[in-house]
Amino acid sequence: MPESIPSELMQAKSSFHPEEAVRHLTRAFALFSEEAAHLKSAYVKLQEKLLSVNQELAQKVTELNRLTSYLNNVLKNVSQGILFVNLDGTLTVMNEAAQKLLKVSQEAVLFKKMWDVFPDDLFGFPMKEALKFGLSHKLLYKSYEGKEFEISTTFVYEGPKPYHGLIVLFRDVSETQKLQLIVNRAHRMKELGEMAATLAHEIRNPLGGIRGYASLLYRDLKSQEHLQEMAGYVIEGTKNLEKLVTTVLQYARPVQVQPSSVELGSFLRGVAKFVKVDPAFPDSVKLQLHIPFDPLLAPIDPEMLKAALLNLIFNAIQAMPNGGALSLVLMKREASCLIEVSDTGIGMDEEQMAKLFSPFFTTKAQGTGIGLVEAQKIVQAHFGSIEARSQPGRGTTFTITLPLKR
Ligand code: ADP
Ligand code: MG
Repeated sequence: MPESIPSELMQAKSSFHPEEAVRHLTRAFALFSEEAAHLKSAYVKLQEKLLSVNQELAQKVTELNRLTSYLNNVLKNVSQGILFVNLDGTLTVMNEAAQKLLKVSQEAVLFKKMWDVFPDDLFGFPMKEALKFGLSHKLLYKSYEGKEFEISTTFVYEGPKPYHGLIVLFRDVSETQKLQLIVNRAHRMKELGEMAATLAHEIRNPLGGIRGYASLLYRDLKSQEHLQEMAGYVIEGTKNLEKLVTTVLQYARPVQVQPSSVELGSFLRGVAKFVKVDPAFPDSVKLQLHIPFDPLLAPIDPEMLKAALLNLIFNAIQAMPNGGALSLVLMKREASCLIEVSDTGIGMDEEQMAKLFSPFFTTKAQGTGIGLVEAQKIVQAHFGSIEARSQPGRGTTFTITLPLKR
């Protein structure tokens, strides 16, 4: 008897339809494939999205880097010193100008406490207190290592707490202050000049009268010699006063130039020729001329500039009573040209140098003391400058700097 088959199996065997099973399986497969396709397309979409997010992120990072380097560049190129000190006193930003002005490198001080590396009142106020009470200062001045700083500070409260703190802006105003002093002096000189001119005008008329009457007296006192002599002194005195009045008026007169384009080499040759043919030009003085080969054009008023140069040249000749060398040198220096008038004469000491260009400063018995002032006024009217260097007993050089083009 064969082994009997369990009855359930027999039942199943009798209900098992292979076609139906295959159909089920096929459907299951189809469903599976469908889901798999969905999954795949979702994956592709996700991948695409990730790619675009990545691209966006990369773009943002590039933008951020660009912005950071732009801001760093701005900080670096600002001529003002900039510092940021956070609430606990740590120095977190210091631009290049600040390092230069304070003569430190940022490696030595950055991320350190302000008061550990600088005096607490470096900027003219107590830093600890300012941070504690959130104080800003509009405008302060403080000397630091021989320089004059202009300082302003602003407290920052915006953003997260680590970004709260004090911005300090500062700059070196030593030069500005020096210029201010010069401008003030120039203003004073101008006012003084105007006053002197008014005074000179007022003196000139009665002086003419005095001289006229003294001359009449002189004529009528022929028979009384000692009285005539006195009238002669009066006339002499009025002549000296008239000379002084003329000088003051000349000093007070404003300089007006009418520039045209002039080749400086031939201009200077012309001036040298003019000096040489002057009968007063001493044989003991040698005139040397150094002019560059290339032509140099500059907007100058040749008559005015010639007058300025003649003042310098006659001073140079007068500084060499025993003879010497007088050189006129023309040079090009970037957008400017230099004209030098040098002598090998008596030179000047520091005290004299300090008074140079002051109106009416003269060391000569017959001097007026306005030659240099006139020369300076003319050169300045050409937007140029004039400087002197000198050594007692060795000689003097005056240098005129003129812009070639404006
Ligand atoms: P002045 O020639 O009438 O004295 P300036 O204004 O031309 O007036 O010169 C002022 C003073 O400057 C002179 O008296 C002299 O002391 C000094 N000085 C100018 N040029 C020279 C020079 N080349 N060498 C030495 N001293 C000079
Ligand atoms: Mg002179």
